[in-house]
Amino acid sequence: MISLSKIITLVGLLAIVWFGFRLLSKVQRQRQEALRRHGGVKANPKGGTTARGKAAASGTQEMAKCDVCGVYVAAGSGRCGTPGCPR
Ligand SMILES: [Zn+2]
Repeated sequence: MISLSKIITLVGLLAIVWFGFRLLSKVQRQRQEALRRHGGVKANPKGGTTARGKAAASGTQEMAKCDVCGVYVAAGSGRCGTPGCPR
């Protein structure tokens, strides 16, 4: 015979699982939406030959080696920022 406490426990577990799935799907949907938005910026048809500049503008950093200390830094920045580097 099934006792009331077992039913309550079962219902509680189902509720937890259901809420968990809901939360998970919500987070996943938000992440996919963000990814799609980001991908949409990247896949801009206006890019063409100036894709490098567009990529840099959309958050992707072009890296350049500092010829003084050899540390890779963002290409746009003049200084490398490494302590002790004269550049
Ligand atoms: Zn340097």
